[in-house]
Amino acid sequence: MALVVEKYGGTSVGTLDRIDAVADRVARSRGAGDDIVVVVSAMAGETDRLLDLAHNIKLESGDGREEKVARSTATTGVAARELDVLLSTGEQVTIALLVLALHSKGIQAKSYTGAQVPIQTDSIYGKARILDIDPANVRTDLETGKVVVIAGFQGVDVDGNITTLGRGGTDTTAVAMAASLQADECRIYTDVEGVYTADPRIVPNARRLERITAEEMLELASLGAKVLQTRSVEFAGKYHVPLRVLSSFVDGPGTLITHEVGDMEQPLIAGIAYNGDEAKLTIRGVPDQPGVASRIFGPISKAHINVDMIIQNVGLDQTTDLTFTVKRDEYETARSILTQVAEDLGAHDVVGDNTLAKISIVGVGMRSHAGIASTMFEVLANEGINIELISTSEIKVSVGIADKYLELAVRSLHKEFNLDTTPLEDPLEPAES
Ligand code: ADP
Ligand code: ASP
Ligand code: MG
Repeated sequence: MALVVEKYGGTSVGTLDRIDAVADRVARSRGAGDDIVVVVSAMAGETDRLLDLAHNIKLESGDGREEKVARSTATTGVAARELDVLLSTGEQVTIALLVLALHSKGIQAKSYTGAQVPIQTDSIYGKARILDIDPANVRTDLETGKVVVIAGFQGVDVDGNITTLGRGGTDTTAVAMAASLQADECRIYTDVEGVYTADPRIVPNARRLERITAEEMLELASLGAKVLQTRSVEFAGKYHVPLRVLSSFVDGPGTLITHEVGDMEQPLIAGIAYNGDEAKLTIRGVPDQPGVASRIFGPISKAHINVDMIIQNVGLDQTTDLTFTVKRDEYETARSILTQVAEDLGAHDVVGDNTLAKISIVGVGMRSHAGIASTMFEVLANEGINIELISTSEIKVSVGIADKYLELAVRSLHKEFNLDTTPLEDPLEPAES
């Protein structure tokens, strides 16, 4: 008998009918004799609705000014703890409804919030990391024949505060539960039929991948392919959790995330990812001397803001310009921190642009092939798209461009790299000679 963790995302549990369909699917897996742990998201749109409610409450800030609760999840400030209390309710609704639906089909089941498992996290509200899971209670329920239904996206810190894991965090709960229970498989059920060569909503003739290496999936996820939360792929890699992405709407093989390295003939490019929510900041006329980068990025990282691409220009007149990108919802905070730093350093000024997008091509095949980056630049040039920032690693190339060109860039690259549904030749099949 196998132990399987099944995760259902927001759209998959978006209505009572959908929850009923999920209960049927779980009943089928249970009928096959497997032990089932289900991890669910909030019903579609619920997390956004809750964020919006909070956003409409005006807060009194320290200096008497009125301030709004951030529209994204927040990590610091008065509102951060309460936002997590609020957001965690979305998943709590779904676990109860799903257990009721399972009961109505004669299946024994029991719900758990993150804190009830318990899933221990650190105390970074809105972005908490899982530290430890005690699976004893869940195991006991499984042994008595119950299906266990766990609220995704949430945990509890050492002081008993409710925390959330960041948008898309239910994937991470599912993989972490699978790791902790040493499950035989973790299935991520979603609203598309697996992992595709690009977001099928942007590229209609994107192809479903039979399999993808965890390494490539990690890059795609961290570069914007939201089909899996990045941390869930990290967990899967670290604990070798067998992971599959499938549709909860139609039956099919989905996509297997593999953990072997380099023992297959790899396609050159596994896929293309995009992120339309980028922003860039430039601090101009910074004294060009040791220690400056750390004085700039120290305060930014203290505010838990992730910096992505960084460019430093060649210095002129003992000063230099430094540009970096952040997520758009952290732009204002980053900008005000940077403005303060600029003043302290005697820099010239700070300029920014919050209409940036990042497009990335990813593939382990790049390791053994030169010229991928230059092909990418050529494709974009032919479309008249200006590249503002570039960053590369062994298996990816990313560019920052104006967000209005996002779809055009993704589609052109998808076509030029031969990823469209009917490629001229399958890169996995050697061509007939
Ligand atoms: P869920 O609510 O099930 O967690 P998400 O909306 O978080 O679902 O993730 C699924 C979505 O990810 C798909 O609907 C698709 O638009 C998007 N997506 C982006 N890139 C890819 C990709 N390469 N392959 C598949 N889906 C992708
Ligand atoms: N409900 C949360 C979100 O919308 C977590 C998740 O769905 O994975 O981000
Ligand atoms: Mg998701």
